[in-house]
Amino acid sequence: MRVLVIGANGKVGKILVKKLKDSAHEPVAMVRDTDQIPQFEDIGVKTVLGDLEKDFDKAFYGIDAAIFAAGSGPHTGPDKTVLIDQEGAIKSVELGERFGLQRFIMLSSMGADDPAAGPKAMQHYLYAKHRADERLENSDLNYTIVRPGGLTNQPGTGKVNLKGKLDEFGSVSREDVAETLAYLLSVPRADKRTFELVNGDQEIGEVLAY
Ligand code: NAP
Repeated sequence: MRVLVIGANGKVGKILVKKLKDSAHEPVAMVRDTDQIPQFEDIGVKTVLGDLEKDFDKAFYGIDAAIFAAGSGPHTGPDKTVLIDQEGAIKSVELGERFGLQRFIMLSSMGADDPAAGPKAMQHYLYAKHRADERLENSDLNYTIVRPGGLTNQPGTGKVNLKGKLDEFGSVSREDVAETLAYLLSVPRADKRTFELVNGDQEIGEVLAY
């Protein structure tokens, strides 16, 4: 499938693009700045310019699947959390519906199922994620929502714990998140399901296999 990576210049996004390039899929990296293009085109990956705060319909031309890995990050205010993590994600879901995508994968966050139960400082972010996830769950799309624990920059272990609901909070390396997102694109048992994700004992390639 031709897979649009939304947030391709991000820490997870960059790893994800490379993993997709080495898979049966063809990534298309959506970036918002021309300076971000060469790193992808130099390795033979197509790019498309798109800003989640503007009109980015064109990014969906010729696309079969999308993975939303964007986010406003911790250095911007709550307004950007709503504009990017919530509204940008919802617009992406709506475009996914309009363009008839075969798959849509959302990188969400642990805690997005019950924002009111999260730490006070995180609730605004968790509500934004929750609303985006809810829109996707109510869409016609064949979706998978992945809610990781805290992201680390540790090297990938290749092993995770992926469950509808985990017993406790944990962490997971960005490389393992990227590997899991790429893998789930072609796993029928992940269709229309929502999972939490931390590092664990199961080989990513065996997750949901039986
Ligand atoms: P990241 O490095 O901050 O990447 C986020 C990407 O989103 C960046 O490339 C950024 O673009 C892009 N973006 C922001 N605003 C945009 C806009 N208006 N239009 C298009 N793209 C835009 O984040 P990460 O570490 O890869 O994490 C990915 C996501 O995982 C986070 O955003 C968060 O929602 C989720 N998550 C994080 C944690 C955690 O512990 N940090 C835990 C659970 C879930 P630029 O590169 O141009 O700035």
